[in-house]
Amino acid sequence: MIDRRIINGSKIDSELADDMTKAGIDRIRSCIQCGTCTGACPSGRRTAMRTRQLIRKALLGFREEVLSDPDLWVCTTCGTCTERCPRKIDVTEAILYLRNLACQEGYMRPEHRAVSVKLIETGHAVPIDDEKWSKMREDLGLSPLPPTVHSYPKAVKEIQHIIKKTGFDKLINYKEGKEDDKT
Ligand code: SF4
Ligand code: SF4
Repeated sequence: MIDRRIINGSKIDSELADDMTKAGIDRIRSCIQCGTCTGACPSGRRTAMRTRQLIRKALLGFREEVLSDPDLWVCTTCGTCTERCPRKIDVTEAILYLRNLACQEGYMRPEHRAVSVKLIETGHAVPIDDEKWSKMREDLGLSPLPPTVHSYPKAVKEIQHIIKKTGFDKLINYKEGKEDDKT
């Protein structure tokens, strides 16, 4: 049995669709390429992203092509495609599955990695690192800092412990003390 082939220079992963099916996107192979997902997609209205094409590439096994596609990250996970798909495919979950795979295989977007580094180093993906944010909170009658790691800095160690235990630091290739070199 031929598992992998090359078509027009692209390596074909004949198991990708099976893996997605096993992961719970069990109706993925019933896609009829009707394009309803693309037509309903609010992100596709403003970008070149075509949901139907991402699904098609995944079904055909164009693994590297789909995982490296920047359009994979344009989806807002609003769920409209899943609601409208006539074959009841969980399209949004399929996109999330492909994104997870993309990260595991090193296709994480630099912007997402930068946010992840912030999370590891500060306990916040978007930390309050400018006085004006604290001022805005005070203007709203709130304390200058929220009751998170900003108020309890020692909790950062707990977050870093969880991140190490889950392997998230390895996933984003985080190097403690060397991140400044990468920017
Ligand atoms: S709406 Fe469903 S069946 Fe139609 S192209 Fe999209 S995923 Fe396939
Ligand atoms: S979940 Fe993503 S792909 Fe589906 S309609 Fe929303 S933005 Fe488009």
